Amino acid sequence: MIGLISATAAGAAARDRLAAAWPGRTRVYDGSGGSVGDAVRLAFAECDRLVCFLATGAVVRIVAPLLGDKASDPGIVCVDEAGRFAVSLVGGHGGGANELAREVGGLLGAEPVITTATDAVGLPGLDTLGFPFEGDVAAVSRALLDGEPVALEAELAWPLPPLPVGTHGAYTVRVTDRAVGPTEREAVLRPPSLVVGVGASKGAPVDEVLALVEDALRDAGLSVKSVAALATVDAKAGEPGIVGAAERLGVPVVTYAAEELAAVEVPNPSDAPLAAVGTPSVAEAAALAGGGELLVPKRKSVRADGLPAMATCAVVRRVPRGRLAVVGLGPGARDLLTPRAKDELRRAAVLVGLDQYVDQIRDLLRPGTRILESGLGAEEERARTAVAEARRGQAVALIGSGDAGVYAMASPALAEASDDIDVVGVPGVTAALAAGAILGAPLGHDHVSISLSDLHTPWEVIERRVRAAAEADIVVTFYNPRSRGRDWQLPKALAILAEHREPSTPVGVVRNASRPDQSSLLTTLAGLDPAVVDMMTVVTVGNTATREIAGRMVTPRGYRWQEEPK
Ligand code: SAH
Repeated sequence: MIGLISATAAGAAARDRLAAAWPGRTRVYDGSGGSVGDAVRLAFAECDRLVCFLATGAVVRIVAPLLGDKASDPGIVCVDEAGRFAVSLVGGHGGGANELAREVGGLLGAEPVITTATDAVGLPGLDTLGFPFEGDVAAVSRALLDGEPVALEAELAWPLPPLPVGTHGAYTVRVTDRAVGPTEREAVLRPPSLVVGVGASKGAPVDEVLALVEDALRDAGLSVKSVAALATVDAKAGEPGIVGAAERLGVPVVTYAAEELAAVEVPNPSDAPLAAVGTPSVAEAAALAGGGELLVPKRKSVRADGLPAMATCAVVRRVPRGRLAVVGLGPGARDLLTPRAKDELRRAAVLVGLDQYVDQIRDLLRPGTRILESGLGAEEERARTAVAEARRGQAVALIGSGDAGVYAMASPALAEASDDIDVVGVPGVTAALAAGAILGAPLGHDHVSISLSDLHTPWEVIERRVRAAAEADIVVTFYNPRSRGRDWQLPKALAILAEHREPSTPVGVVRNASRPDQSSLLTTLAGLDPAVVDMMTVVTVGNTATREIAGRMVTPRGYRWQEEPK
């Protein structure tokens, strides 16, 4: 719960905007009867995060005596009277105040003020990677920040955000699920790599299940902090011993249908579960159902009272899943790059793209990002590289201008990809839309994009599609319209459209939309000089209803204008 505290009318107005935007997430503390200090103190006790529409000094004085451990104190954000700044005051990482300051800033239009060192320079704090960690995290983070050599020893290729690490250094970041204790100057990150399959008889006590799981991990030299889930059969989804053990471990229970488990090949099947729940294996099969390597075969619990065991477990190391983000950068201008695209770029450890697009966003990348750039043409190879890196378990971003799915990298990449990686698409503003906004409203009714490049498509196919658009009276945006070696296609395509449209049909030509040397021209089918068109350009041809109105190209949403007497 996020506690909201304000003292003035302006503060209350901003507070109400947050409360309205985040229904169910916030609680207002108005200090009814008491002072603002009482309200802050109460919120501090009851909430995990606070937004105070108060001066930082006032809040510091009120909470100073209450502060305890940075792991358990609530995160506190202060917003000034004018709503210009959202200051992360206390609990930047652990308390989530940095994240909250960014969220509040986004909502109120305030600048987030974040002073935590790792966040401020764009390094992820080691404690914010979303993995449990052990060891001297503060010292290693400081070394990373100071640019001292830090070695990465990753036993598991789990998709990590970029870290400026190398192969040698006085400090070490170790990524492992093995129960090796951190040594001096070492931070150990625990990836969620282990799945423990569990079977239990009705009424098996929580302690028996938990002890079994912990013993199995300890004997195998594995860390309990790397357990991602307990897995079992559907029929045991509500078994209190399993649910309770998962709760104590802080992991979810994943369940599978008995038929599904029966189909999993296991080393130690038995008749007992077959009769009870319809599969010859629960623990081993549930652990293996998501794929991976069996590290601990089925073992039974041992009871102090000597009665028969009520629980079984088996441990599997999952195959790490890499992540491929296919990110559209928009037409060029930084403010047409979406916030989501920006997040994905900063999350990726490996960036793959055409050199000129990499240049467009280089300043956004986190230190340590591995950049694989290549020149024009090497499309297939770029797609293959990106997928191969993701398959190795990396967090990869494959970038393209405009939308990465429009005449760009998404389809060659996904044609290569298999289902062993996670794929995330981030849409971008494609050239037709960027140009449309500059021209007016040319796409107000049905429209189509056609690439005039006959590099990948035979000209007959392109021509057939242009003809179909012409006959169907659809607005057309031409991508890849004309290059030095490819100059007859555009006049030919325009001639086909002219068979069905007046010579006076508006045509918009936009070059370098949203880039510093943007230019645009509104002309007609008869008036267009193809020489002004090149590969940095899109050409949008109106339909029979499109008009030039006050210097803008407008296609009406219906055909009403056409019916009116001219
Ligand atoms: N994925 C891109 C398109 C790649 S094809 C997108 O969604 O926009 C390359 C063609 O796109 C260029 O030849 C040009 O016709 C067009 N294009 C891309 N960016 C442009 C821009 N900023 N201004 C004008 N045309 C652009």
